[in-house]
Amino acid sequence: MADRKIVLRDNDLPQRWYNIAADLKTSLAPPLHPATHQPIGPADLAPLFPMELIKQEVCQDPWIEIPDEIMEILKLWRPTPLVRALSLEAAIGTKARIYYKNESVSPAGSHKPNTSVAQVYYNKQEGVKRIATETGAGQWGSALAFACTLFGLECQIYMVRVSYDAKPYRKLMIQTWDGKIDPSPSTKTKYGRAVLELDPHNQGSLGMAISEAVEDAVGRDDTKYSLGSVLNHVLLHQTVIGLEAIEQLKMIGEKTPDVVIGCVGGGSNFAGLAFPFLKDKLQGKTNPRFLAVEPMSCPSLTKGVFEYDFGDTAGMTPLVKMYTLGHDFMPPGIHAGGLRYHGMAPLVSNLVKDKFVEAVAYHQTDCFKSALLFARTEGIIPAPESSHAINAAIVEARKAKEGEVIIFNLSGHGHFDMAAYDKYLSGQLEDYEYPMDKIKAALQKVPKV
Ligand SMILES: *Cc1c(COP(=O)(O)O)cnc(C)c1O
Repeated sequence: MADRKIVLRDNDLPQRWYNIAADLKTSLAPPLHPATHQPIGPADLAPLFPMELIKQEVCQDPWIEIPDEIMEILKLWRPTPLVRALSLEAAIGTKARIYYKNESVSPAGSHKPNTSVAQVYYNKQEGVKRIATETGAGQWGSALAFACTLFGLECQIYMVRVSYDAKPYRKLMIQTWDGKIDPSPSTKTKYGRAVLELDPHNQGSLGMAISEAVEDAVGRDDTKYSLGSVLNHVLLHQTVIGLEAIEQLKMIGEKTPDVVIGCVGGGSNFAGLAFPFLKDKLQGKTNPRFLAVEPMSCPSLTKGVFEYDFGDTAGMTPLVKMYTLGHDFMPPGIHAGGLRYHGMAPLVSNLVKDKFVEAVAYHQTDCFKSALLFARTEGIIPAPESSHAINAAIVEARKAKEGEVIIFNLSGHGHFDMAAYDKYLSGQLEDYEYPMDKIKAALQKVPKV
């Protein structure tokens, strides 16, 4: 009988992260200062991040050693299983073999602790006492609170108002891990107060919450800022996913997969699985397809532009060259909260631009339908974000040729997203395709550089 899951031992945990910046065909455009539009240097980032993370952000070496202290904590749940989706295969009658990497087994229930643990470690090394961040659906906030409590740092989280109200259990997870949490826009920051003055019932957005967390970190000596996606060092920390998957596929005699799939919000879980496989494709040794899957309602890769834009709404972050819908794009309240971001990681954007990665967009009802099929065959209730990857894997599997190998990242479970399942199951979930004229209006605000 075929192996159902492929597990590695603690000591098989990758010892190094893979830095794809070393192998890109077109080098990354430099980040620019938000006011002067001149390239920024490490000193400009120093108020926000510890120096070691800034070094990783600009590093050109292909491999970076993972410190032992980080590996010790990752071993609480890593290496994660690679699972052959035999029951899903049978249900759809595919000729393909489908595998998924199960990142839902981490304490926070997603891939995000892979980077929160590393980031908190480097902050602690440099004497930082407190970290401020934003969270949308609450997954990043809970992952950072988890890492902060293990290392004994204080954690301040600005949670997008609409999720704060709709997702009380993510908030309680953060508090259980000793994090401090405020709904954003909040009265704690100048920016938050300004937004609330204009609109006391503002529901918030990820871009706004980033502005608040950055303002908090810049305003205090003991505090730095932390981001759960988008940046090069975040994607770097996630590469343990793909490095493990390569070993696991080897263990059961599979060669290079034909299709590698991940959902994309800021791009980190996709990058984590895909980049180690992309290394060979960039060097012309293999030619699998790579699919970055986004929601139709927040289509940065499929309908955005590849331009310099701010990472936040207020325009306080450096300008980075990426696919963007415009920094004041207001995504509708879809249920894959983690995919509601106006931009995309510069590294993922670069690889899409150079055609090493394909982008596809799906409607949320199609994704939920696939999520249910997955839950009813493989058992795991996926996060609404991950359901985008599942849907793409099913679409690919239905048209696959005999013996094709498809691998996707199950970025998290959906145990705290049952309200979204409730809506789907009761027929209240609607699709929303962001209208082109609204996208055009938001793109007008992209700064001219
Ligand atoms: C945050 C999150 C995402 C989206 O973020 P990426 O950086 O694109 O990975 C996807 N899935 C889950 C479960 C998440 O928590």
